[in-house]
Amino acid sequence: MIDLFGRQDPALEEAPNGAWTYLRVAVERGLDKGGKDSGLTYRSRTPVEIGRRVEVPLGRGDKPAPGIVVEAGGAELLGSFDARRVKAILRDTGAGLPPNLVELAVWMSGYYICPLGMVLSSMLPAAVKKRTGLRTVVHLQRVDPAAERTVLEAHKLPKQTSQTWERVVEIKPADFPLTADDLTTRIGARTLGPVNRLIRLGLLREVESEDVRQTGGVETQLSIEQIEPGGTAQPTRHELTEGQHGIVEGITPTLGQFAVHLVRGVTGSGKTEVYLQVLDRVLQRGRTALVLVPEISLTPQTAGRFVERFRSAGVGVLHSGLSASQRHREWARAASGASRVVVGARSAVFAPLANLGLIVVDEEHASDYKQDQLPRYHGRDVAIKRAQMEGCAVILGSATPSLESWSNAIVSTSRERSERSTDGRTTPVASIAARRSKYALWELPDRVGGGRLPKVDIIDLAEERKTRQQSGARDSHLHLIGPTLEKAIGETLHAGGQILLLLNRRGHATYIACPDSTCGWFLTCDDCDAKMVQHRVIAGHTPPKGVVRCHHCLAQRLLPSNCPICDKKLITLGFGTQGAEQELNAKFAEALGEHGLLRVDGDTMGSAKDYFAALSRFARGEIKVLLGTQMIAKGLDFPNVRLVGVLNADSALSLPDFRASERTFQLVSQVAGRAGRGTLSGRVIVQTCDPLAPAIRHAAAHDFVTFAREELATRREAGLPPLTRMARIVCRDADLHKADAAAGRLKAALTAANTARGNHARILGPAPCPISRIAGQHRLEILLSSATRSAIQDILADARAQGLCKSDAHTAIDVDPIALM
Ligand SMILES: [Zn+2]
Ligand SMILES: [Zn+2]
Repeated sequence: MIDLFGRQDPALEEAPNGAWTYLRVAVERGLDKGGKDSGLTYRSRTPVEIGRRVEVPLGRGDKPAPGIVVEAGGAELLGSFDARRVKAILRDTGAGLPPNLVELAVWMSGYYICPLGMVLSSMLPAAVKKRTGLRTVVHLQRVDPAAERTVLEAHKLPKQTSQTWERVVEIKPADFPLTADDLTTRIGARTLGPVNRLIRLGLLREVESEDVRQTGGVETQLSIEQIEPGGTAQPTRHELTEGQHGIVEGITPTLGQFAVHLVRGVTGSGKTEVYLQVLDRVLQRGRTALVLVPEISLTPQTAGRFVERFRSAGVGVLHSGLSASQRHREWARAASGASRVVVGARSAVFAPLANLGLIVVDEEHASDYKQDQLPRYHGRDVAIKRAQMEGCAVILGSATPSLESWSNAIVSTSRERSERSTDGRTTPVASIAARRSKYALWELPDRVGGGRLPKVDIIDLAEERKTRQQSGARDSHLHLIGPTLEKAIGETLHAGGQILLLLNRRGHATYIACPDSTCGWFLTCDDCDAKMVQHRVIAGHTPPKGVVRCHHCLAQRLLPSNCPICDKKLITLGFGTQGAEQELNAKFAEALGEHGLLRVDGDTMGSAKDYFAALSRFARGEIKVLLGTQMIAKGLDFPNVRLVGVLNADSALSLPDFRASERTFQLVSQVAGRAGRGTLSGRVIVQTCDPLAPAIRHAAAHDFVTFAREELATRREAGLPPLTRMARIVCRDADLHKADAAAGRLKAALTAANTARGNHARILGPAPCPISRIAGQHRLEILLSSATRSAIQDILADARAQGLCKSDAHTAIDVDPIALM
């Protein structure tokens, strides 16, 4: 029966073999619920595999909507649903995810409170969905011998065709399939004509395959030589030190099962070589491997080492510098098994590798692994979950592990210390801790090749200013570079060394205020609860005094000259990287010359390409001083860096975030680790207004263990992660009353769920966020914390089931948050 619109009544339509395939499809847009149940039910004439991306009719108008098949089966999927009302899918889009990633998505959707369709959608790169660069390639293949005989018996070949055929037969069977062009060349023909005749006769057949063409983007096949001309600092495969060897041998027996290893190695201790050797063994066992690195340290230097080492096994690199078609190609190569090692940033954790044997998360402490939009997942934690689901080993590596990972790798600080003192150099706690803690701990306390960790001097900026005043300096300006650092920069430049300078603030001046203390006015953004920052350059031209910009909503306007309250001339205070650049150019004009200094921050580096180019120029020695934000703190390894300066170590310390101290420790340690990587020893100067801060003192002493012990004790006392688990919900609205009401309702629902489940969680708020307004949106937060992960998950799931706890434009749910601003 055909209805008025020409559609067949589904109830009467017949499936080919009498049975329909029923599918549960998670539509990419919205529809919040956890688990596979959140999928909508459709049917299909032909079987469709789990993970396929299909188009389904949605809503009243049956608009085509993309979604991923999360379950497939027979009538059992219908439940109480009327089979006659189930619609058929519209088409298979040709793209899809392997079933193992669908399982991972189901977990993420539940854990991170994000709609399943949205999680699945974010796993699949846009280029794969759009099938960018895909083309169909036709190859020619010989038909099977029986068919060949039939053709030859039935036809008497004309002389010329017969000669063509003889040449085709001479080609080794293993060389097929060949493209028509290649075959034409091989048989010495000038046109495609002879080959086409053989196809028409049925002696050759066409086989179609899909191939992804790559165009544009940054070259991925970079080698170390390209960034370090004149040879490499290290040979491609070097002898392992005793410490490295012990770790490789210790990890190897756990390959083939789920296990988490934390490798804490000081900067320059050769962690990468450990990864490479374990990867070798994984590949030898016929399995594949995934290496995650922070986006910013996915430099040609890092990627090049992996590419070079595993070229023969097939290696893919995923980073933001790829063009869409390159990204599609890299994805397709991993899915087809052509790449057996994938190196990439956060989202590479979803690489479609099969038979995974190892996941390496390098610089596991890096905040880049946390995604700050939906789904708000942590790449490291998802990697561990994926490894658990697929039964493979994980190596987390860092010189300054996150306290989350560290506390999983140690049992208690007291036991750990006693074992340290009785054991030797390497892996002092591994054998014992491995039996009692969640992660196995391995340590590399020394630099490879006998290199020493650099000497770090802490310089008190207040003292430096006094010295400058006493010495009768005439200018009243505040200097960012104190006399000690200034002297060291001069000496290093004179000796031909290179310098890295860290200042974790962009812009020229970070504080614009009225000089009159009774007035007290300072410039804030109209739409945000934040100060505006002076910038000197906008798109190539420089207004006399520059502009002010809000780093939160990106609003920009001209720098006002007078106070709007008392009309006094405004002053600018606090240095950003632009201010430091100006000061350096003024102080070292002669030594630096025109191109001696390069500023590396979010304003000067528009793309990965710019960043790679800057590093490459620094490696070649064209640039003497790199001044930058944390972009320069990670992973760089340049032997001629003899001085590292931290211009203001406390810029992060004062943030109202319980991880401020940990971040400062990491930043100072990481940047200090860039010094003295070659044969010459390095020096590090840390300028601070807070020289007694534990984060700075311990970083200067290269003492992670003491820092971690003290910081963990503080966190334990305050009931903060990693000793507790946390979730943060931010309610935002342009209307403060609406935000307040929404937060109130949510708090009531969460409190009721907590009470019903035995009050295992603490619920704080609603209270204004530290930045109480961004881009005109008021922000209120609710914080959940508990000793167990499940308590928080249960409460959130209860509220979610009532439809109250939804990730949308007004509500941001962040499980295991790492930023609390
Ligand atoms: Zn703003
Ligand atoms: Zn004023």
